[in-house]
Amino acid sequence: GFQFLHVHCFLLFVIIDTVSVIQTIQKLQGKVAVVTGGASGIGEATARKFALHGARAVVIADVQDDKGQNVAASIGPDRSTYIHCDVTDEDQVKILIESTVKIYGRLDVMFSNAGIGSASKQTVMDFDLSNYDKLMAVNVRGMAACVKHAAKAMVEGNVRGSIVCTASVAASVGGAFFTDYTMSKHAVLGLMRSASLQLGAYGIRVNCVSPGPVVTPLLCSLFKVQAEDAAKMFESHFGLKAEGKMLSAESVADAALFLASDDSEFITGHSLVVDGGVEIKN
Ligand code: NAD
Repeated sequence: GFQFLHVHCFLLFVIIDTVSVIQTIQKLQGKVAVVTGGASGIGEATARKFALHGARAVVIADVQDDKGQNVAASIGPDRSTYIHCDVTDEDQVKILIESTVKIYGRLDVMFSNAGIGSASKQTVMDFDLSNYDKLMAVNVRGMAACVKHAAKAMVEGNVRGSIVCTASVAASVGGAFFTDYTMSKHAVLGLMRSASLQLGAYGIRVNCVSPGPVVTPLLCSLFKVQAEDAAKMFESHFGLKAEGKMLSAESVADAALFLASDDSEFITGHSLVVDGGVEIKN
């Protein structure tokens, strides 16, 4: 009899444990999310994180079609779709959002993350203005188009959604070297702050996640460094000692998940810096 009780108690604990794990992991249960720049780096890690946390659908939007299709396929064709979208083209952004609503019925979460780096270590005295326009077209105008069309879909669908834009530590300090990139990320904060005020009336939240250096293709081309050498290059910039570990895309994805989910239901107009103490040290 005693042993019988013992086994039963054990099973009960296993069930309670499993249920609580499922509950804590499903932060986006039933939600429909779009991730721009979802084919690579921070966007890819976040798309996977959203799916892991129960999102009903994650739409991957990017210009790298093969990579984007692979990410969507590996999340699962029942829960993820790839849609080609160049965020510099407002019509493509409009179609991206309309298609999402058409396929999945609504839009709950917009992770506007697509961005590019500066082409060279430009100082303010030798701006390459042709490249400047290209950078602003993606990092600023593209962000604005994504926020605009996501907001419209949420308002029309009566969805109290969450919009998260990827800014950067370069959004609030001048030390990132690349003046044009720094300007573009400062503008993202302005967009987020303005939109958060206007959309608050509809219960829609708008926030930024602001990463420090994460080893992604963007960072490697920006600093002209191989992925293997990047950690060493940035080691001294971190205030937080993490035993040689670099800030990962997954850590940024965790912050994006927090801002996307109801865990942050009273946070809006905020930039959440995820940088291991880079900003405070520099
Ligand atoms: P990444 O290059 O790995 O990913 C960016 C993705 O955006 C790529 O898949 C790319 O194809 C896509 N993209 C570029 N232009 C696009 C366009 N016009 N339309 C649609 N998609 C486009 O780089 P990442 O580091 O993951 O960058 C993601 C975001 O994080 C960017 O906004 C970047 O500025 C920001 N960020 C990165 C770092 C870092 O250290 N890696 C730090 C701070 C902020």
